Amino acid sequence: MSPALTIRPYSEGALAQAAGKLRAGELVAFPTETVYGLGADATNKDAVAAIFAAKQRPSFNPLISHFPDRDAAARHAVFDARADKLAAAFWPGALSLVLPKRDDSPICELTTAGLPSIALRVPAHDLARALLRAADRPIAAPSANRSGRISPTTAGHVAASLGNAVSMILDGGPCGVGLESTVVDLTTDRVVILRPGGITAAQISAVVGSDVVMAQTDDAAPKSPGMLSSHYAPGLPVRLNATAPDDTVGDEVLLAFGPDCITHGFAKVLWLSKSGDDREAAANLFAMLHQADQCRVKGIAICPIPDDGLGIAINDRMKRAAAPRSQA
Ligand code: AMP
Ligand code: MG
Repeated sequence: MSPALTIRPYSEGALAQAAGKLRAGELVAFPTETVYGLGADATNKDAVAAIFAAKQRPSFNPLISHFPDRDAAARHAVFDARADKLAAAFWPGALSLVLPKRDDSPICELTTAGLPSIALRVPAHDLARALLRAADRPIAAPSANRSGRISPTTAGHVAASLGNAVSMILDGGPCGVGLESTVVDLTTDRVVILRPGGITAAQISAVVGSDVVMAQTDDAAPKSPGMLSSHYAPGLPVRLNATAPDDTVGDEVLLAFGPDCITHGFAKVLWLSKSGDDREAAANLFAMLHQADQCRVKGIAICPIPDDGLGIAINDRMKRAAAPRSQA
């Protein structure tokens, strides 16, 4: 059973309680200058899986990690000159930077959806920054609403949307901007806006001194899921709904789920969750896809996973992994 939801207005005690909950792997909603965020320790895969469970998202998109200042953020990503300029100009503020993740960053693979890049933001909200400082770890925080609902700008919106799925709401009054952060991808030579938001393309262009490009927004009808650059695709072929080894493929590694899963005859077995727990499987998903991809076998087989709860997002991800690749 979920414990009761705690809603507390700002005080030193409330801040300490919220930071303690974040460090213990619980979900805490907190205000930023854009919208209320649903925060979890970005280095704790079980805590991040709980974000997806609470939001009931049908897919795993990578999450933005939040920091109290640039120096804290810089421990997790490689900043180039453009990133330095944008951070100096707009942090703290409504700008998220997508940069190469540092090899020694402990941020978990579910936070980055298995990508080698990471999204970082320093919010311009005193309460948010005090919480991030007290938590003393990167905090993954998408908007604190159920998937498909309007982004929350008050503690009441969060409570109405998420209820007991969140452990605590730190109430800092209404958010000022109400628009989400602008997400800028700096992982290539171009400056690409992945999501428009509080800071405009013209403002960004003026600071970096070059043109900025808007990312394709027609993700709803991609030519091939393999072409979505923002999705990690394994190199090995992926076979879904595997209930037995396939001799025509050769040796396969099995991603196994649930007590009824038949593992006999596979070259190697990686358990997403032995008991059939969708949250445990979500927490293991990206790390195990990478692990499977590095096995010296001919393919990755995935046992059937029930299409409910987080299973919907897990199956969405597996279908993308199994889709035919583009030639490139
Ligand atoms: P939200 O969590 O709803 O605020 O949205 C976060 C957005 O940031 C995602 O939809 C991506 O567009 C982008 N994003 C976050 N992390 C990454 C990453 N590691 N690589 C590329 N894009 C990212
Ligand atoms: Mg949102």
